[in-house]
Amino acid sequence: MLRIIASKSGHRTRLFNNPAITRRSLSSRNFSSITASTSTSFSKTLALLSAASLISGFVGYSLANRRDVEASASLVKPQYGSREDYARAIEDLKKTFAGDEDAVSTNADDLYSHGFSVNDYHLGTPHTVVMYPTCTEDVVKVVHIATKCRMPIIAYSGGTSLEGHFRGYHSGGICLDMSRMNKIIEIHEADSDLVCQPGVCWSDINDTLREKEIPLFFPLDPAPTATIGGMLSTGCSGTNAVRYGTGKAEWFLNATVVLPSGEVIKTRRRSRKSSAGFDTTKLFIGAEGTLGIVTEVTIRLTPVLPTAVAVVHFPDVRKATEAVREVTLSGVGIQCVELLDDLCMHALNQYGQSENSWPEKDTLLFKLQGHNKASLLESGRVVEKIVARHGGFGFKYAKDDQEAEDLWETRKNALYACLALVSGSRAWSTDVCVPVSKLPELVYETKKDLASTGLIAPMAGHVGDGNFHAALLIRNEEELKISREVVSRMVHRAIALDGTCTGEHGVGIGKKEYLVEELGPGTVELMKTVKRAIDPLGLFNPGKLYPDDSAEEKLRK
Ligand SMILES: Cc1cc2nc3c(=O)[nH]c(=O)nc-3n(C[C@H](O)[C@H](O)[C@H](O)COP(=O)(O)OP(=O)(O)OC[C@H]3O[C@@H](n4cnc5c(N)ncnc54)[C@H](O)[C@@H]3O)c2cc1C
Repeated sequence: MLRIIASKSGHRTRLFNNPAITRRSLSSRNFSSITASTSTSFSKTLALLSAASLISGFVGYSLANRRDVEASASLVKPQYGSREDYARAIEDLKKTFAGDEDAVSTNADDLYSHGFSVNDYHLGTPHTVVMYPTCTEDVVKVVHIATKCRMPIIAYSGGTSLEGHFRGYHSGGICLDMSRMNKIIEIHEADSDLVCQPGVCWSDINDTLREKEIPLFFPLDPAPTATIGGMLSTGCSGTNAVRYGTGKAEWFLNATVVLPSGEVIKTRRRSRKSSAGFDTTKLFIGAEGTLGIVTEVTIRLTPVLPTAVAVVHFPDVRKATEAVREVTLSGVGIQCVELLDDLCMHALNQYGQSENSWPEKDTLLFKLQGHNKASLLESGRVVEKIVARHGGFGFKYAKDDQEAEDLWETRKNALYACLALVSGSRAWSTDVCVPVSKLPELVYETKKDLASTGLIAPMAGHVGDGNFHAALLIRNEEELKISREVVSRMVHRAIALDGTCTGEHGVGIGKKEYLVEELGPGTVELMKTVKRAIDPLGLFNPGKLYPDDSAEEKLRK
């Protein structure tokens, strides 16, 4: 990693001027000259001395190496600018973008709304200034000014992420709102791909394709207002992942990225496949804006196929998830399988977005997929038989496309329906994922645990992937405390079942503390090494994704 970054011009000077790196090369050179001279001593004691030299060499090397670790850790010890530096940065930004009156905002509402979200439980932290770039060159200019004034940069796209990803940094920073970079640049129907800016919503892309009568779509479907830049940066997924995989599959073919050095790179060309080296696009998928700012993306599209939506209810969530396991193993055409528990169904009925009122039971929602009506019906028959074996009842198809769409739309807005259940509440949306066979145990235990706390916490999930969420509705500090404990138990349970603390929402601030337990100290250190190499000043989205050193230390001991 270091070598790759060092080969990038501009960045190289900073890395090799760093005293930490000079110290590393000197200490290893000294070590070899000492061992060489020791080993040329008296022949009788040669073996003894060699052994001693080896031991002392090993100890010396270990110490030197340990110093390297400490020194390299200090590479990211951020040296942020002072208040005066930040004031100078804002002046510079205003001067640089003088011809564009919408480019720079220090409006208090703007600063706050970009550092806060009604969708989650994290505290709001405003930014110092919000920038609205229109192109890659604008982003480069902002990065140069931020670097000069040592000011953090936090990218913001749809603002729908749920783990505090775009909160302001406590000592201030620049928020880069990508909403003016929302153009579809090229559509290549014959190649099933599309080039766009990062601020375009996935749902607008799919609407545009439909309007143009292009029978393709982009299958990653998180919040309806999420955008390509944020989706790539969180490695998102959604209801379609059971059929199409997640943002970590190859839906993002390439990305143009502004690095912290200000250099612009394109990770790969547009061909479907490339085995030219390792996958640098993936480096930015799930990096949460900590390694670069994505300014253009080529996404892959897939053919629209006929679908049908079916609903079925169960005596409990364990039976529902056991049915899912068998359905997915049967190999029938399933595009989505969603679990909505009884409380969530109640919330959806109360919310009243759907024309129908649904039985308030633990429910599975299937989106079946096939080439024609006959294959859809055949898949439906297989599913109906399997769910009946697990106690499923009331299996019913949506009566037409309108009802199917309505039902799906309702599911997509489940978070808002849940929030409306308890007036004045904030939602803590949990997100864990386990191997599918472990899901019944996890969901059942978690539902019991949630019930014992007295919290109102409807559950829903993309259970075809072993991924589920609970929306813990919080009204006060006491409930926040209880939620913290129950979420922690849920995450530990998921990790113990060989799962993850986040199936799709990402780490942000909220899941940092679990990474070492889940991934191990070595993997977390590798992630930090990449971060140090690419962003030695630690300016890109500080405080997110990487666990604090103290948490890591605790687990290492
Ligand atoms: C109602 C609701 C339903 C949801 N359902 C799902 C779901 O089914 N599946 C799922 O995966 N998620 C879901 N989410 C979470 C959310 O939609 C996803 O995390 C989504 O990918 C975030 O995209 P965004 O454009 O809103 O990004 P933002 O929230 O704006 O940003 C997310 C992160 O990406 C970084 N970032 C943004 N733009 C860039 C850029 N151009 N370059 C570099 N970094 C950047 C930000 O700094 C931040 O760290 C849901 C959220 C809500 C509110």
